[in-house]
Amino acid sequence: MAMNEACPHCGVRLEPEPGFYQGAMYVSYGITVACITVVGLALYFLWNPSEWMYVGITIGLMLVIAPLNYRFSRIIYLYLFGGIKYDSRYRD
Ligand SMILES: [Zn+2]
Repeated sequence: MAMNEACPHCGVRLEPEPGFYQGAMYVSYGITVACITVVGLALYFLWNPSEWMYVGITIGLMLVIAPLNYRFSRIIYLYLFGGIKYDSRYRD
């Protein structure tokens, strides 16, 4: 869960202001809803299990992808609202 204050490669500041990443929970929510929708539809068309199997499988999946969801939502939020952009000079 720890995060660098600045990129060790290019030096860009990764926390523009205190509490900046609170807004990332909205991105995380969007990712979660998208995953639940896709998995729910896939389960319905491929297997059509009982209601409790839907609940158990989606909760299990959300727990498994939580670390990825946490990081990707911060990255997406930083690129959307952090005022940084990709610079090809620092590639690789
Ligand atoms: Zn960098």
